Amino acid sequence: MNVDARSLRRLIGDNVLIDHPVATLTTYRVGGRAAVFVRVDEEEQLSRVAEAAGTLSLPVLVIGRGSNMLVSDRGFAGIVVQLGDFASNIDLRVDDASVASGAAVPLPVLARRTAAAGLTGFEWAVGVPGTVGGAVRMNAGGHGSDMNASLVDARLFDWRDGSTREVRAADLGLRFRGSTIGDERVVLGVRLALSAGVRESCEATIEEIVRWRRENQPGGQNAGSVFVNPVPGEVAAGRLIDDCGLRGLRIGTASVSTKHANFIQADEGGRSDDVVAVMSHVRQVVADKTGYVMRSEVRLVGFPDAHVFDDVRLPRSADGDDDGR
Ligand SMILES: Cc1cc2nc3c(=O)[nH]c(=O)nc-3n(C[C@H](O)[C@H](O)[C@H](O)COP(=O)(O)OP(=O)(O)OC[C@H]3O[C@@H](n4cnc5c(N)ncnc54)[C@H](O)[C@@H]3O)c2cc1C
Repeated sequence: MNVDARSLRRLIGDNVLIDHPVATLTTYRVGGRAAVFVRVDEEEQLSRVAEAAGTLSLPVLVIGRGSNMLVSDRGFAGIVVQLGDFASNIDLRVDDASVASGAAVPLPVLARRTAAAGLTGFEWAVGVPGTVGGAVRMNAGGHGSDMNASLVDARLFDWRDGSTREVRAADLGLRFRGSTIGDERVVLGVRLALSAGVRESCEATIEEIVRWRRENQPGGQNAGSVFVNPVPGEVAAGRLIDDCGLRGLRIGTASVSTKHANFIQADEGGRSDDVVAVMSHVRQVVADKTGYVMRSEVRLVGFPDAHVFDDVRLPRSADGDDDGR
């Protein structure tokens, strides 16, 4: 895609990068290039990005740590925005057990900081390698908790009109690994309500979670669990995949992890298309053999048919919570 670098820099600022590799910004470390990339260190620059995107009719994609994202080998024909310095503050208030955090703060950092301050309720996040902003949109969670458990409100910027407003957690449609926050809004910061705890016990919980993750989850290039558990707490995607004999299945440069069947690994220098091919195959076999049509938890960027992975069907209706992480 041809973009005029000079006019973009005039509209947005000198820190605009053109034809930037996205792979380096994601935990999958595969995929093509972003037509435009900008790391926004000052909040007021968001309005300029919004204006430029409107003027040039370019889509905008916010990226946190890219730990729940797979970018197509053909890249993203728009502006990729990463929040920087202005969204990286942590303000701990031990007396009323509350925390204000910028959206760019990594979850493991916030988990360790709150635990060290003797605040309990956010330890679960130590093993989730995303940012606070990405975690709100995904309602990230694990170990029996999630963002929804402590989120009081979030400050959101709207690309459509350049407005910023605080929205109560109850109005964000947080559900199992999702919310009603779409691409038109960016989380800038949050307020969390935690509980007073004992520092040693909070830190022991953190160490236990880190140990559990090392034992049960693979390292390398992946985006964590690929499919949402069809019936949280009851039917785990990993178990279905395993029962269908798909552990270790390989297509080209991607394979189902041999350590955790709901993780799909990419090889170094691998291709996003291979990851999607493994996803499609796994999903089809599981649907054929069990009747469960699984929804992708990973955000697919730049794939024209990505909506296919949003479809979800159960062989019977059921509810539940959590996924045994
Ligand atoms: C090894 C591993 C383990 C994982 N374990 C877990 C787990 O236990 N539980 C779990 O829930 N997830 C898990 N994940 C997935 C992932 O870490 C979470 O979904 C995380 O919340 C994503 O955050 P991120 O900043 O990386 O978001 P990204 O991957 O960068 O983006 C994800 C989505 O959020 C949007 N987004 C990002 N930042 C913002 C923002 N500031 N405002 C609005 N939208 C935004 C993006 O546009 C995209 O749609 C794991 C991933 C890995 C690699």
